[in-house]
Amino acid sequence: MLIKKDQDEIQKYLTDESSYKGYCDAVYFPENEKEVEEILIECNKTKTKVTIAGAGTGLTSGRVPEGGIVLSIEKLNKILEINEKEKYVRVEPGLFLRDLQNIVESKNLFYPPDPTERDCFIGATVITNSSGARTFKYGPTRDYVMAMTIVLGDGEILKIERGQYKSNGYNASLKCESGKIIFFTVPAYEMPNTKNSAGYFCKENMDLIDIFIGSEGTLGIVTEIKLKLIDLPKDLLSCVAFFPSEDDALNFIDEAREKSQSKDDTQFSARGLEYFDNYSLRFMSQDYPNIPAKAIAGVWFEQELNNNEDEMLSEWVELITKFNGFEEESWLAVDKKEQEKFKDFRHAIAWKVNEFISKHGLKKVGTDVAVPHYAFRKYYYQVKEMIEKRNIKYVVYGHLGNSHIHLNMLPTNESEYKTARELYKDICFEAIKLKGTFSAEHGVGKAKRDFLIMMYGEETIKKMAALKLVFDPNKILNIGNIFEEKYL
Ligand SMILES: Cc1cc2nc3c(=O)[nH]c(=O)nc-3n(C[C@H](O)[C@H](O)[C@H](O)COP(=O)(O)OP(=O)(O)OC[C@H]3O[C@@H](n4cnc5c(N)ncnc54)[C@H](O)[C@@H]3O)c2cc1C
Repeated sequence: MLIKKDQDEIQKYLTDESSYKGYCDAVYFPENEKEVEEILIECNKTKTKVTIAGAGTGLTSGRVPEGGIVLSIEKLNKILEINEKEKYVRVEPGLFLRDLQNIVESKNLFYPPDPTERDCFIGATVITNSSGARTFKYGPTRDYVMAMTIVLGDGEILKIERGQYKSNGYNASLKCESGKIIFFTVPAYEMPNTKNSAGYFCKENMDLIDIFIGSEGTLGIVTEIKLKLIDLPKDLLSCVAFFPSEDDALNFIDEAREKSQSKDDTQFSARGLEYFDNYSLRFMSQDYPNIPAKAIAGVWFEQELNNNEDEMLSEWVELITKFNGFEEESWLAVDKKEQEKFKDFRHAIAWKVNEFISKHGLKKVGTDVAVPHYAFRKYYYQVKEMIEKRNIKYVVYGHLGNSHIHLNMLPTNESEYKTARELYKDICFEAIKLKGTFSAEHGVGKAKRDFLIMMYGEETIKKMAALKLVFDPNKILNIGNIFEEKYL
């Protein structure tokens, strides 16, 4: 097994897209499950911390090590099986999401979860329960995980299938490959009724596979995953519609959401409803000169088609016009190449924010908040006002189909950064007050631990820490993710 110790060679494993930087003694590159198991058994003996590295696109410092060793997943990257008849795929966790999607699509199958960043590992998307634009129609990654193999923190191997283990109320047990049975209590707390990836997924009478999905590598290392596939939609209509006011765009989204109750591709049904505010459009206009100068807001949506292009097109155009959208200047595509350009546009804004922040030598101050639909509009204008009062530049974009926004502040110096951090805290607090979440998809990592305490309170954090200790008794795995080490 390759092990790198030269600090010059391992620099890239010390950080992720949050731009926090950590430190470690060495990076290990296991090539199979046995080697992962051996590393963990050894590290348990020596009580050495192990931080798991995916592709490093995470935004919350989840893979940033604080000592010990890094275990890189990158060599565990094989597709093990594609079952076209039963519509599933078995993969190793280091496979790039982009590659998985391309391969299954070449077989007329479809893997719906689509975090905007596709150069990430599939294992990391499972362990952070990633979601994206298509989550509006298809749900988060969790909904596609049929089975997993996990090397637990203590080196035990757990193979778990959806439907195999259910908790009895909050009492639970799991059987490892060695025959060892783990008894534990599922922590009881109420999760927000919005899209959410903050803390462990726990509820009464739950399917126990769900505890591991979204657990941010604190309970075990995923070494194999079986994922559900569906049929590739026949065709797609994709559009970025521009509007003369934010309210028009928000009204358009509200009505499109309401009309999109059917999952059927013969019916009006958005598969994603993505929003861009005025500042986002201006921020992008140099790179995209075809953004209409008069546009104050934009909405990117997609509609799957099944020999009904004309009908769907006219329904969508009617809705755009109803809310004063600029029909002529909106971007519309049924051609795959053009559609990819819209996707790139959505991705580009996230990248451009990261680029802006690192150019100023600062850290990203971008929210990942979601609130219940009924509360969204008021919340949105309230937080914008809060920021404008403090004179901080910002852009808002995000998954408004799910009332989930990425409000990214754009500080240019330390003093503005300090103000932005204060505002960030207030914005998250307001979302939590509305029974929403501060982390709808990026997870908690090390960057957002304080907000998890704000959301659930310290007693619940202690319950979460107790759950981790069941699977990682020697406290070695992804220490510092979700909660601070002092809770262990
Ligand atoms: C421009 C941009 C846009 C983004 N948009 C979205 C978005 O729309 N939705 C979204 O959900 N995310 C988004 N992200 C965040 C990120 O892409 C996802 O969180 C992704 O799942 C991280 O994958 P990765 O391979 O880069 O993981 P890393 O950053 O390397 O790791 C993420 C976490 O997973 C753990 N981990 C990795 N592999 C394993 C494993 N096999 N077993 C156990 N733990 C493991 C790591 O320790 C870490 O805690 C975006 C990021 C960028 C840069």
